[in-house]
Amino acid sequence: MTYRVTLIPGDGIGPEVTDAARHVADATGVDLAWDIVDAGEKAIASRGTPLPDDVLGSIRRNRLALKGPITTPIGSGFRSVNVALRQQLDLYASVRPARAIAGEGTRFPETDLVVVREATEGLYSGVEHWVDRDHTAAETVNVITRKASDRIVRFAFELARREHRLHVTAVHKANIMKTTGALFQTAFQEMAARYPDVRADERLIDNMCMQLAKKPEEYNVIVTTNLFGDILSDLCAGLAGGLGVAPGALYGDDLAVFEPVHGSAPKYAGQDKADPVAEILCVELLLRHIGETEAADRVFRAVWETIAEKKVVTYDLALPGYTSHPVPPSSCSAMAAEIARKVPRVDLSTPLPRPRGTAGAHDEHLEAGG
Ligand code: NAD
Repeated sequence: MTYRVTLIPGDGIGPEVTDAARHVADATGVDLAWDIVDAGEKAIASRGTPLPDDVLGSIRRNRLALKGPITTPIGSGFRSVNVALRQQLDLYASVRPARAIAGEGTRFPETDLVVVREATEGLYSGVEHWVDRDHTAAETVNVITRKASDRIVRFAFELARREHRLHVTAVHKANIMKTTGALFQTAFQEMAARYPDVRADERLIDNMCMQLAKKPEEYNVIVTTNLFGDILSDLCAGLAGGLGVAPGALYGDDLAVFEPVHGSAPKYAGQDKADPVAEILCVELLLRHIGETEAADRVFRAVWETIAEKKVVTYDLALPGYTSHPVPPSSCSAMAAEIARKVPRVDLSTPLPRPRGTAGAHDEHLEAGG
């Protein structure tokens, strides 16, 4: 079977890491036909808009996309392509697994959690204005609806069941944001009552940051609103080994777009230096989504073994300050070639080296941890 996939290379390091991801995807033998379209800086230069209609059309047609990061100018200029894509395609669930891989690049090798972020409303709704003519005061509206809150918390509980991650933590600031925060909190509490098999608890965003920095292994699925989710998913990426290894997915009712947590890292653009793993693990998530489980397992395992061996890894997994055992750094393309070489060869007969999730050990840990 052929799967047609929209491919958006993106800006900065985007073309390098999406090339790397395609190389690895091709090594799985799954028949992926790439429909390549430009969004971001290239599209502005050639079409005068960062998000041409044919990009949206291609994703709607294929219902599947792999995306590189896209630069968003700060303060002025075009609105974020990333935010526009999520809102126009109603990609409401941003799912960002933070899994420490082979204990490398992290002080928290037990980190294995998933951040589920509402991606269409909140403080990213684009409702903002100056209050006065002199621009000395401004307002941004935090739009929270019951509909969007219900569907994101339902998504989180369903994910918890599907992936045997039977602990969901809602993160909010309902003590200060007494309407928007309370609305999200109520949606969570009412949904939790429908999933008695899943442990449900809540944290205020400030406390959550402190808890994660001390003991990330106590958390499994985190569900939250747009801005808190954006910030927490970078924090969790850092706990799990850095932005170079953090993949992500955006789901709507019948569309899925896979993109790394990281941005376009312009300072590394064109240097063949960036870590390709985050974009490669987006391919793993894409393959899982379309039911190509063995191919997905092969990609994850090949990444794990490449990082564990530490013979061909990029600077973020190689240099002093990033790792306890420095090695000479390899290029983005060399690391991708090594992962692709391993994909058909890895041995899947022993369990995947995942510390948690489907292992079942986590459930015991939760009971012990209270
Ligand atoms: P960034 O994630 O691009 O980079 C921050 C730093 O993280 C980099 O300087 C680099 O040190 C490191 N890093 C990121 N990706 C890496 C990789 N693959 N390998 C190794 N190191 C990596 O964040 P930023 O500098 O704040 O943003 C740059 C641009 O990207 C901005 O325009 C921003 O709006 C955009 N952005 C886009 C997306 C997206 O497309 N989904 C997400 C975040 C940021």
